[in-house]
Amino acid sequence: MTPYEVIRRKRDGGELSSDELRAFLDGYARGSIEEYQMAAFLMAVFFVGLTDAELATLVDVMLRSGVVVDLSDVPGTKVDKHSTGGVGDKVSLVLAPLVASLGVPVPMMSGRGLGHTGGTVDKLETIPGFRMELGLDEYRAQMERIGCALIAASPEIAPLDRRLYALRDVTGTVESIPLIASSIMSKKLAEGIDALVLDVKVGNGAFMDDEARARQLARTMIAIGRAHDRTVVARLTAMDRPLGHAIGNALEVEEAIAALHGGGPADLREVTVALAAEMLMLGGRADSLEDGAARARTALDEGRALDKMREVIEAQGGNPSVLDDPAILPQAEVQLVFEAPQEGTILAMDTRAIGVAAVELGAGRATLGARIDPSAGFHLTAKPGDRVERGQPLATIHARTNALAEQAARRLQAAIRIGEGDATPLPLLGERITG
Ligand code: URA
Repeated sequence: MTPYEVIRRKRDGGELSSDELRAFLDGYARGSIEEYQMAAFLMAVFFVGLTDAELATLVDVMLRSGVVVDLSDVPGTKVDKHSTGGVGDKVSLVLAPLVASLGVPVPMMSGRGLGHTGGTVDKLETIPGFRMELGLDEYRAQMERIGCALIAASPEIAPLDRRLYALRDVTGTVESIPLIASSIMSKKLAEGIDALVLDVKVGNGAFMDDEARARQLARTMIAIGRAHDRTVVARLTAMDRPLGHAIGNALEVEEAIAALHGGGPADLREVTVALAAEMLMLGGRADSLEDGAARARTALDEGRALDKMREVIEAQGGNPSVLDDPAILPQAEVQLVFEAPQEGTILAMDTRAIGVAAVELGAGRATLGARIDPSAGFHLTAKPGDRVERGQPLATIHARTNALAEQAARRLQAAIRIGEGDATPLPLLGERITG
């Protein structure tokens, strides 16, 4: 079958056999199928979707395009968490050491920022010396030694996903359930986990803004996990406002450190504790979700999660004194206070627009390979439902220049809707989906 026929068949809603799809994907991996042909195919998938059999083939080809790590020498049930992406989502920075401190090994491979959403790799790289690019042998050794690693997805893991993701990012084909599900699950299945907790974000700052599609995405990923003998549990969490107060890499690390000290914003702590409870259950270290949540809160309050993070930072070459003195993180030249332009209730936030504004400040990349500004971002104290006075500070903008800060203030003004009436934010913790 020629590439042209493959694209047409998919475009017209037909099904490709496993051999046809494999041949097309292999051709792309070898270079005989061009980027523009793959882009057309992805757009066809975006509109038409994939059958269950096609999705299974896509996951299998992506998973086997690289190394599948064997962590069987690490004792215990290895459990990871993956978020579908959000604004201000620094949960991984607290959750991984927290769960590892309670005896469940956490092998966490993360990504950089995508579109308007932030990425764990960019955040942790703001810690002086911290290395995210560990080789697979070093990753395995660290897992055996301290039971936790926070690393960048290695180029050896699912390299086909790396190429497809970069292409999707620039061809308007990110927000597709089969493409997101196969992208996430192929990487997770390759990193050596036994079980996975998915934080499926829902709301106007997530890739899936309505609940029905977020639920469908969760179910699709759970089914892929089951087909590969992994237990996957999903939790829908709110992304119709940023999580916590900090948005931007160093600012988010500082907020995560506060949470590791037992403080930090209540919503960040609540999501982290709920996901930790799921991971502890999957790892056999809690009898119930309530028991897991109680253990997680105690570990945060007693500094056990903080101690584990210190071990991780030391193991990966970072300066652990950042945990006692976050002021050693990069600091922005300009700090501008954004004030409420009128009195009223915060009715809603355009969370995606806030994420895009952070990218414009330099917290993310506008083009592939662009350098980020680690200190840029927002400290946003207001949330939907809050009553505010005219002139009340709602955010501090951290920027490299006054011009960038002023532009960001205009973006915030457009993104935060203040008026009279009731706000209807999504519940922070939504449905729990197990299959
Ligand atoms: N995260 C991923 O790894 N892949 C996607 O497609 C979306 C979010």
